[in-house]
Amino acid sequence: MFDSKTKTVVIVGAQWGDEGKGKLVDVLAERADWVVRYQGGANAGHTVHIGDKSTVLHQIPSGILHSGVRCAIGNGVVLDPETLFTEIDELIDDGVDVQGRLYVSDRAHLVLPYHKLVDSLSSASKEIGTTGRGIGPAYEDKVARRGVRVLDLRHKDRLRALVEKGVAHANARLASFGVEDRANVDATIELLERLAPRILPITDDVGLMIHRAITTGANVLLEGAQGSLLDIDHGTYPFVTSSSTTSGGAAIGVGIAPSAINAALGIVKAYTTRVGNGPLPTELGAEEGERMRTLGNEFGATTGRPRRCGWFDGVVVRYAARVNGLTGLAVTKLDVLDTYEKVALCTGYRVGDHLYTEFPGDLADLDGAEPQYEWMDGWGQSTADARSMEQLPIQARKYLERIESIVETPITYVSVGTRRDQIIGI
Ligand code: GDP
Repeated sequence: MFDSKTKTVVIVGAQWGDEGKGKLVDVLAERADWVVRYQGGANAGHTVHIGDKSTVLHQIPSGILHSGVRCAIGNGVVLDPETLFTEIDELIDDGVDVQGRLYVSDRAHLVLPYHKLVDSLSSASKEIGTTGRGIGPAYEDKVARRGVRVLDLRHKDRLRALVEKGVAHANARLASFGVEDRANVDATIELLERLAPRILPITDDVGLMIHRAITTGANVLLEGAQGSLLDIDHGTYPFVTSSSTTSGGAAIGVGIAPSAINAALGIVKAYTTRVGNGPLPTELGAEEGERMRTLGNEFGATTGRPRRCGWFDGVVVRYAARVNGLTGLAVTKLDVLDTYEKVALCTGYRVGDHLYTEFPGDLADLDGAEPQYEWMDGWGQSTADARSMEQLPIQARKYLERIESIVETPITYVSVGTRRDQIIGI
């Protein structure tokens, strides 16, 4: 992945999230000097399996599991300081040395208890199917210019004034929901004063740090959360997350120039999943969906929610390739399809007389859309031990080749199991 011309690489989910980015970042981090998260919050849940142990990281880049790698949380992330330290303490308990290897952007906005309260009680959040972790309300405060940034922890008076503003707004919203719960200024300040002595020593100008790392030739991995179809602009709005998940968001969310990014790797499952509400054109019916969900263990890492499942949607991934400028694809969970007699790839949606081959902006255009499938022979054998393309069954190779031609992007990695070694690098 990294070479003399490819030093800064962004990793994005090219579907609706949960594509297995955690594993790819973990594998690629071995050759990185820096791994930086650029958007989202503690609603991301990267699961990384090392040996028999599985670790779920919500905010800290999974690169932290490699001792030589430095990690940062960029300004585009909304940081939940409470869970950050729960995660740090768990890592320390597991023997991971975090000291001096993890930095937080001074410009990142904080997710505070009142954001979580609003999120968990808002019917709008329930409709979209958010994780209720306060991410949306924290981004709303950021855009409305009443957010609290990490650097505000350095100024007591300013911090109190900002928290007062945030709490007043949150309480007005809670009142409008008709609930009795209210946020509290003093409790929020108390929490922040308790956490500040731990956050401030790891706070820095992350944009400047990464700029310097790039200019001195470091290998930098920019780690996205969620997926391209959940992007606030390019996703299936309004069933989207509150940030820019696509590669353009990486430059903004880290604080570097777009021209500093040399490559974009899109992670896709060999099929499609989505958690929460919103369109999923290739969604399978109850029985077939259940089969795929069980085979793929498709339950949310953060919430345990069952994911909706369907065949690989070439229209979606072609769109993601275009919007992100993908230079390569990593196809994960190929092994999940091992037992299927036939596998399908969606190449378009038929709505009445119209055939969509490009993903539409208006979700109403997807009403009653009939996915157009190409059926291919399955391979009916385990791929879990394959470590090269030659070791994959011919039908699996044909399936991957067809994905490449539909998406017009070369496949550079294939993942065939949860373990770190179960990967084919091409
Ligand atoms: P992320 O948020 O994109 O990192 O995705 P998650 O971590 O939520 O979901 C990926 C899940 O799939 C994790 O449990 C991974 O261990 C698992 N996984 C990743 N790659 C593979 C693979 O190739 N095969 C199988 N069977 N599981 C995989």
